[in-house]
Amino acid sequence: MSYQQWRPGKRVAIAGGGPGAISTGLAFLKRGYDVRIFERQPECKAIGGAVLLSTPVLAVLRSYGMSLENVGSYTVTYFKNKAGLERLKLPFNAEVERCMGIKGWHYGVLRSSAFKKMLELVPEGVIYIDHEFAKYSELNDSVEVEFTNGKKITADILVGADGIRSKVSRQAFGDPKLFHTGIRLWLAWCDYIPGIPENYGMVSHDSQYQASFFPMLHDGKPGFEWWVVEPSWEGKLIPENPKAHLTNILKDWGQPMPRFLEVTDFDTQVYRWEIYNRPSMNKWSTGRIACVGDAVHPVSPYAAYGMGMAIEDGYYLAKSLDGVDLRDPRAVAAGFEIYEKQRVDYVNHNMEFARFLGHMFHGLPWPLAKLRDLIFDYTPALSKYLKTGYLKKAEEETMNLKELQVIKE
Ligand SMILES: Cc1cc2nc3c(=O)[nH]c(=O)nc-3n(C[C@H](O)[C@H](O)[C@H](O)COP(=O)(O)OP(=O)(O)OC[C@H]3O[C@@H](n4cnc5c(N)ncnc54)[C@H](O)[C@@H]3O)c2cc1C
Repeated sequence: MSYQQWRPGKRVAIAGGGPGAISTGLAFLKRGYDVRIFERQPECKAIGGAVLLSTPVLAVLRSYGMSLENVGSYTVTYFKNKAGLERLKLPFNAEVERCMGIKGWHYGVLRSSAFKKMLELVPEGVIYIDHEFAKYSELNDSVEVEFTNGKKITADILVGADGIRSKVSRQAFGDPKLFHTGIRLWLAWCDYIPGIPENYGMVSHDSQYQASFFPMLHDGKPGFEWWVVEPSWEGKLIPENPKAHLTNILKDWGQPMPRFLEVTDFDTQVYRWEIYNRPSMNKWSTGRIACVGDAVHPVSPYAAYGMGMAIEDGYYLAKSLDGVDLRDPRAVAAGFEIYEKQRVDYVNHNMEFARFLGHMFHGLPWPLAKLRDLIFDYTPALSKYLKTGYLKKAEEETMNLKELQVIKE
């Protein structure tokens, strides 16, 4: 299907071509708007490795027409210490499962497979590659968008979905003041290995490191996502031999962690990330500009939800502007306000909670780390933190998405 409409009052320009941008594009198209997505690279491509997507995100993707069959592998997650002592089992919420018609909560998917499925839903003629956003100028009833290749377009609104170093967000809100969160993540995936129970995932800690794995699907085939988190800082040396480095970290860890090292191709299946954040923002929009995803809230992987929240943002933004003539500045401002009301506090909470967990597990000095471990080993403190700090709010949010439920409450 090819698509070229660009009608005044309906024109949504999107800078960036990642999950936030594609979700925003699909959500506006679904509501009858004209969409153009401008990606600076020669193709829209998901950054590597695997990712966990949760129930509300899958429900949003389903609403765009994505089949959830074989999308990923649902997982029961256990938190443990390095010696294998169980600290908690993350519960599922039966009501959420029933209303959404989706079993479990977290699904492991290979980013590239999930993103490819999203791209397949975008009609031809919507995505413009090799278009790097340069700057915008707001007019009374439109916004002019310029690209580094010299091209220009006039739209009614501009959505900044151009990631953590977003130029749209910088022009609209100033320097993001990015800071290192104190953690480095080694994210890897490998093909299926037998002997690990089905639908079983583990997040385990010792006093400094986290070592974890989840089952996942890539192109319908089973495999595993596994990762190690270590304390880090700006300028910390990068090990020359990542395999030796990770083998050293995991040497006292119980199976299956060491087995993943043996079956993973370190040249193509391992990614290293230094994790940056920005201070929370109260506003994600101004005039005819709104932002989604990492452009306004890069999330530390402790929430396993950054891609998910970027996808949700796009859905909520389009929903908030449903039926609006986008030339009308007051109607646009009102729509942006609804979007921010629904998203900003919730997302900031998740971003700050993820940062807090990262600091708590990797940033405490030795005596406090020891005390933390004793508390987590022998009291329900960790279970309480995760249930109230993360799951409860996410589940409430999911139950508010009434239009995406297959069975009404
Ligand atoms: C190690 C790691 C693990 C993670 N694990 C998870 C997980 O388990 N679950 C989860 O949900 N999330 C996870 N995330 C977070 C997730 O990857 C991001 O939050 C998500 O990719 C953000 O999507 P986005 O569309 O906002 O930005 P991005 O994915 O960064 O996409 C931005 C796009 O904009 C393009 N672009 C940039 N500048 C311009 C410009 N000037 N003009 C045009 N285009 C431009 C880029 O090329 C890119 O295509 C993880 C992140 C990391 C680092």
